[in-house]
This record gives sequence, structure tokens and C-alpha cells, in this order.
Amino acid sequence: MTFGPERTATDLVRSIRSGETTAARAVDGALGWIRRIQETGLNAFLSVREREAREEAEEVDRRLADGEDLPLAGVPVAVKDNISVSGGRTTCGSRLLEPYIAPYDATAVVRLRDAGAVVVGKTNLDEFAMGSSTENSAFGPTRNPHDLDRVPGGSSGGSTAAVASGCVPLALGSETGGSVRQPAALCGVVGIKPTYGRVSRYGLVAFGSSFDQIGPVAHTVEDAARLLSVIAGPDPHDATSIPEPAGDYASGLEEWDPKGARIGWPTEYFGEEGLDPAVRSACEAARHAFGSAGAEVVEVSLPHARYGIAVYYIVAIAEASSNLARYDGVRYGYRAPGQEDLISMYLKTRAAFGDEVKRRIMLGTYVLSAGYYEAYYGRGTAVRGRIAGDFEAAWEEVDAILSPTTPTPAFPIGEKVDDPLAMYLNDVYTVSANLAGIPAISLPWGSKDHLPIGVQLMGPRRSEGALLKAARFLEREAPPRPTPRIRAEEAVP
Ligand code: GLN
Repeated sequence: MTFGPERTATDLVRSIRSGETTAARAVDGALGWIRRIQETGLNAFLSVREREAREEAEEVDRRLADGEDLPLAGVPVAVKDNISVSGGRTTCGSRLLEPYIAPYDATAVVRLRDAGAVVVGKTNLDEFAMGSSTENSAFGPTRNPHDLDRVPGGSSGGSTAAVASGCVPLALGSETGGSVRQPAALCGVVGIKPTYGRVSRYGLVAFGSSFDQIGPVAHTVEDAARLLSVIAGPDPHDATSIPEPAGDYASGLEEWDPKGARIGWPTEYFGEEGLDPAVRSACEAARHAFGSAGAEVVEVSLPHARYGIAVYYIVAIAEASSNLARYDGVRYGYRAPGQEDLISMYLKTRAAFGDEVKRRIMLGTYVLSAGYYEAYYGRGTAVRGRIAGDFEAAWEEVDAILSPTTPTPAFPIGEKVDDPLAMYLNDVYTVSANLAGIPAISLPWGSKDHLPIGVQLMGPRRSEGALLKAARFLEREAPPRPTPRIRAEEAVP
């Protein structure tokens, strides 16, 4: 076996570089797993780049033979279907982009290729990344590899299910309000939301432009750090990208000394109604792991955190309503047939958006409308500033903040899909990091009834290096992870 469920990218790269296996075999293995896993109804992938991936893997083997230094040599990677990969579909889980073929690679994808990784497929997502369960896709829901009757979380549920089920060791997701961390927690994998601007947004289809970030999904903190090191860094194509170069986040990961570290415990987060006691205990155990290793655990207050959901669902949808105006049937993508005139063509075309997207376009347009702009959008952005200010004050006292990633483990498919407010509450612990632009990591810690639980670490802007080290420490201390019921191994006939 060249490649399988427990295999990390770090390990795979080592065997490919040492000649024990090849990129071509690794990619062939991944394509085989994907085919079989798809038969289980997991629905993690929307398209598979079978022929292209095989050709690209051979090219990687040639580059290795030429002595090129490729940090992700031959690693099969899955990419969320709102990130452009040239020549293939980028549907965003929407009928509106079903016929669209991406004419260029996202910067993150260019960097993956340069590093020797091979994109094997595009993963399912909530339509335009709007959702917390991957049930809002026009192409059917993705299921959770730990329990096929439950959601994988969202909106990057395809990417986290692809990694958790062992199809690929690495995947890219995207974050606007928690869409990497939340499904990572529900699928039992590691997910990172980088500092706003750390990873270029070029080629990521816009949702909320002042929030959006591409983020890594992996089995381990080390793998996630390697992937982040490859995709991060300044990009002339994205005016909001941070101009300083990114670091090598994978080096020195084991060196973190808990003694002298100050870990924040946000009291407000643990007063939330709806926090599952098992998730609370997981956080308490992680807190204890820090404390007993000599870290100082300090209670911190984030007084405006309680407004996070309300503010996020005003400001992000305002930006979304503006960004989604481009899907008009004229420029690119889907156009409804049988139009009589321009207006009816617009109306029929845009009727093809799903319910959640329509809800946000309408609400977003409303909060930006004359007369309501100040009351909603203006207020929302002001409170966003307060939320960021809470974190700034906390960094005076602590280096990182420990919290739940989600209030509960994975919930059953269909349970919240007709109740948008219940769905939005899944993001209660994740949206603050997006509102403040700070980095955050979710990593698996314990389980409830065989379902994984995630704990979250948040840090100051650009603190990815330190945050990953603290996460690596926690990962070493973590209880064993539950084994997914559906994973590549079991799918082998
Ligand atoms: N669940 C949140 C939403 O629906 C976050 C989505 C995201 O991060 N892309 O907006």
C-alpha cells in the first residue's frame, strides 16, 4: 500500500523522496480510494481529475528525478470547489456555476503545484460556502465518515470528509465564518483559519471579501503546518495579502515549552447555552493538559463575543449580496433558457440559487439599503471593531485562547436544515476569529458516542507559528481519536 487512511503527507513525502514509492503510485492509490469511497454515498467529491492527476504525478516524478526540492512531492490533495483549478469545473456547489470552467489556477493552487502536490479532485460544499453542514449544496449533501446519517459540518465538509475518510492526506477548504474549523471538528481532523491576508484570496470565489481565507485540512498539526507553509505568503494578485513573507511553520513544532506560556480561558464562551457537556469536558481536559505541563491558564473576558453571530450574519451577508450580483446570466456561468427580455432572464437565472443563498442576498441587500445601512451595516461594523478590541485586550494577558470549536459533535442530516437560526448557532465559537481577522486552529480532542470533538486555539494576528506549536503540544496530549466508520481501508472490496 502506498497510501491509506493513517498515512500522513509528511510520511508519504518521505517515502516518495527516498524512492520507496513514486508520486504516480501515490496518486493512483488516492484515485482508487476515492472511487471506492464515492460508492458509499459519502459524496465528498464533485469532480475527480483522474487523467490530469495521473499526468501531473508523472511530471512530479520527473521533477524529482531532476533533483528538484519539492516539499509536497506527490501528495494527493483535494480542493474545495470554490477554489479555481484551471481547466476544470469550479461549481461552488451551485447551479449558477455548474457550466463554468475555471480559466486559471488560484494562487494557492499554483503554490501547491510548485511544491509537487497533485490536485486529485474538487470537493463538495454548501452553495457558495454558505452553511455549516454541507447540506446546502446543489449536488446533494456530503455525509460524515464517522456516521453516514450525520453531517460532516460545513461549508468545507467535502474537504474534511475527504481527509477523514483517508481519500487524501491534505485538502484545502475556505473560511468566512468557521468553514474549515467547524467541519474539521465534526470530522475529527485538523483545520486552520489563517490570519486574514496570510493566504492569497486570488482564485477563491468571493463570499465575504473582508473575511474570506483559504485554510488547510489535514490529519495532523504537522501536516497542516506544511500545507500552510506552502500556500501562505504575499501575492501581487491580492491587494489584501500580508506583504511580509510567511514562515516555515513546520520547523521547530516540537520545541514549544509550555512553561511560561499563558493560555486564555474565555469565560463567556463557557457560559453559552447549548454547549454540549462532552465538548465542555474536552476543553477542560485540554486546559488541564496545558496547566499540568506548566502553562499558566488565565481566565479572560471577551465581553462582545455574544454579539458575534448577529454581527457576522449582518456584515458577511452584506458583502455576499454584493459579491453575488455578478451571477446574472450575462458574464459567465448559467443562463436560464427561454428568456423573453433582459429582466426576465435575470429573474429566471437568479431563481436557480438555492434557498440559503437567496435568503442571504435578500437580507444582505436589505441591510445595505438606504435608510437601513447605518442601523444594520454601520452598527455591525462598529461592533465588529469591538470584538477585535476584546481580543487585543486579551493578548495583553495571554498568548493564545483555548475554546470549543463547535457547541456539539456532528448532528443528524436534516435536523437543522429548515431552521436557519439553529444552523447559524453552530458558528458561535468560530465567527469571532473571522470578525477579528486572527488565526485559529481546530484539532481533535476526545469524542462523544464515537463522534469526534474539536478544541480550538486562537492567537494574535500573524501568530500562526506559535499557535501551531501550542496545537502540536495539545495534539501529543490528546486522547485517542475515534476511527471513522467509513474510510478508505473498509471501502476496499
Ligand atoms: N457557517 C458560516 C456561514 O454559513 C460560515 C461559512 C464559511 O465560513 N464559509 O456563513
